[in-house]
Amino acid sequence: MTGSARLSSIHSLVVGGGRAADALRSITVSQHLFGIERVVVVHHSFCGATSFSAEGITAAWEHEQHSDISSLYDWDGIAIADFETSLHYDVALIRNSPGTPKQVAVPPLLRRVARRPERVPCPPGHRRTG
Ligand SMILES: [Zn+2]
Repeated sequence: MTGSARLSSIHSLVVGGGRAADALRSITVSQHLFGIERVVVVHHSFCGATSFSAEGITAAWEHEQHSDISSLYDWDGIAIADFETSLHYDVALIRNSPGTPKQVAVPPLLRRVARRPERVPCPPGHRRTG
């Protein structure tokens, strides 16, 4: 297989905040349309999901949007407090999903980036406090 053939067989799913819950449907569709052998869960240093907490975004949402989202998402899949914990959680979420074929490998990967990427500043009510 040539390098370009190998590269064309990679189907990237990028989700805001880097959490696996947002990718589950896309994994199922990718398997259905293309077939997949592996889902690599990549978290990266300086991720925006480390700049807020589940408690903070839920409280800010309540204040700003007057709506309770505390039961809308799995609490441990919203923000990232610790990369080892978040990678383990997201790999287990994908691995245990009925929408992920059992033969598909789901390895974790922490990508360390050299500097903080450009991003929109997080509003004060959303920031991680601890
Ligand atoms: Zn990120």
